[in-house]
Amino acid sequence: MKIIHKINQKLKDGQTFFSFEFFPPRTEEGVENLFERLDRMATYGPIFCDITWGAGGSTADVTLDIATRMQNQVCVETMMHLTCTNMPVEKLESALKEIKKAGVHNILALRGDPPKGQDKFEAVEGGFSCALDLVKYIRKEFGDLFGICVAGYPEAHPDGIVDDPEQMQKNYWGDIAYLKQKVDAGGELIITQLFYDAEVFIKFVEDCRSVGITVPILPGIMPIMTYGGFKRMTGFCKTKVPADILEAVEAIKDNDEAVKNFGIDLGVKMCRRLLDAGTPGVHMYTLNLERSAVAILERLGFIDTSRVPKLLPWRHVPKGTARASESVRPVFWSHRPKAYLKRTQGWSSYPTGRWADRSALEYSTLSDAPQFMRRLTSTDARKEKARIAWGSSLESEEDVKAVFSKYVKGEVKLFPWSELEGPQHVESPAEVKVLLDLISAGYLVINNQPRLNGIPSTDSTYGWGAPGGAIYGRAYVEFFCSPAAWVSLRPRLDAAPSVSYLAATVAGSPQGNLKHDDVVALSWGVFPGKEIVQPTVLCPASFATWKDEAFELWLSEWAGLYDEGSASRQLCTSIHDGWLLVCVVDNDYVDGDLAKVLLG
Ligand code: FAD
Repeated sequence: MKIIHKINQKLKDGQTFFSFEFFPPRTEEGVENLFERLDRMATYGPIFCDITWGAGGSTADVTLDIATRMQNQVCVETMMHLTCTNMPVEKLESALKEIKKAGVHNILALRGDPPKGQDKFEAVEGGFSCALDLVKYIRKEFGDLFGICVAGYPEAHPDGIVDDPEQMQKNYWGDIAYLKQKVDAGGELIITQLFYDAEVFIKFVEDCRSVGITVPILPGIMPIMTYGGFKRMTGFCKTKVPADILEAVEAIKDNDEAVKNFGIDLGVKMCRRLLDAGTPGVHMYTLNLERSAVAILERLGFIDTSRVPKLLPWRHVPKGTARASESVRPVFWSHRPKAYLKRTQGWSSYPTGRWADRSALEYSTLSDAPQFMRRLTSTDARKEKARIAWGSSLESEEDVKAVFSKYVKGEVKLFPWSELEGPQHVESPAEVKVLLDLISAGYLVINNQPRLNGIPSTDSTYGWGAPGGAIYGRAYVEFFCSPAAWVSLRPRLDAAPSVSYLAATVAGSPQGNLKHDDVVALSWGVFPGKEIVQPTVLCPASFATWKDEAFELWLSEWAGLYDEGSASRQLCTSIHDGWLLVCVVDNDYVDGDLAKVLLG
């Protein structure tokens, strides 16, 4: 969806808004960390997020990849920056085609800075010399498909900032006249360069309006986070910093915490002035960090972190995206939401309200999208990190159990069955104890939820959804266990009147007391004036798909850490080949005691 349409709706409704900008990290690990942050920050409800294009096109592939994932995986409306530096037309065309295919329909069209070592911008052979040409090109080749945003400079472009006041005025108005050309050629939105004097921005908007620029103009807000960063950026952009701000920052420059807090106070003050003056929204340059941007927005009243609906047990569902109405998922992927998104990407519709019979919907197979199987240990550095977490060698099943126990206790953050680092839930001490008992009894637990009988939706550990609701859940445990353990467990499960279960080896079909098209609601919430929300279910048809993925992780994440033929690798492989994946639900969510059934 074009961002301008969302903005126009906000304007019509008289609502202000905010957006977040990120830049592409240099390492693969940095990219994954950015996505963790993005996941969280998306829940605050930015109207869009954008990702920059590295200087000189240096990050083209990473930027394209991040933009695609932001749009399709984080499900936030995404804008990708694109510059002309070092980009002949064919490269621009291929980048635009790629994001078009990925459903990213918003571009910030820029000229870019001269490549390193050059003072003046010169068009690369077969390329463009200014953003205006790029805007015209996008409109000519892609019609109205892309929402186009362009850059504005409240203090004039740095190249035009000179000491001579007369020349400075000329350059300033020259820039505005040129900005009008960019808008007339197809620019629908303007985002500005950073500034630290709100009055400068307010005057710039007035001046733009005086020449007939009518599109929304968003102020680029860069909170001061460190003294060094502030000096570097204001020097590079030739930003005029009001004397009182400069003085205040200089006085605390050796105290990082004080600088950060000052930056937050200043950001709040500036944004308040801008919003009071009629600015429709603020664009936060996050520098990939959360604290300052979120603190400013929270103090402005855009975000109330204590009232933000807590994530559903699996992932937020932002408005205005293809999955906007999705509200039910099988529990199996609750710690691998990205894999789930990938495997269900092609579905024509997503379950809303009820799972019903989805057995006709096909998950993409592991070989269709093998990349989602290799996330945690995809580089040598990450393999090393995983070896530190899971052991540089494994001698016995006890070593394997020890890793599961450490994960439950929060002593290791990486876990083969979770895409995100760190435990997914902060378990209560009583629940940690139960999980440790299960692991020590030979059940290698990879997913679980406790029995919940009407706890408040705001509960800090197990709550989800809007405030004021009551949350229910059937106790659920999913684990790997040896064939011997299964032989003694199965009769106990069969004898327990309130228990449903499924189990399968890697090569076998699921067995258990649920029929293929049964659906068990695992968690549900009752909210005032609403239908019941049922975000996780257990469904045998999905289990048949999930178990292949769960078993594969023994090989692709864990066994792959060790040398071919080593005892450690053989141990992981033998668990993969011979053990069972079991999931058990206690349907008695009022009085059930699933641990008792499992432990006998
Ligand atoms: P243009 O709009 O082409 O203008 C550049 C200057 O040239 C202006 O002073 C303009 O007045 C003048 N000019 C150009 N053509 C004409 C003409 N025909 N007639 C008159 N004047 C003309 N850089 C990156 O490398 N990656 C990014 O992701 C990135 N994101 C940015 C986001 C924002 C919001 C902003 C404000 C800047 C960003 N930049 C980024 C920096 C930007 O690339 C540089 O400031 C660059 O020097 C100018 O780009 P532009 O698109 O503003 O250029």
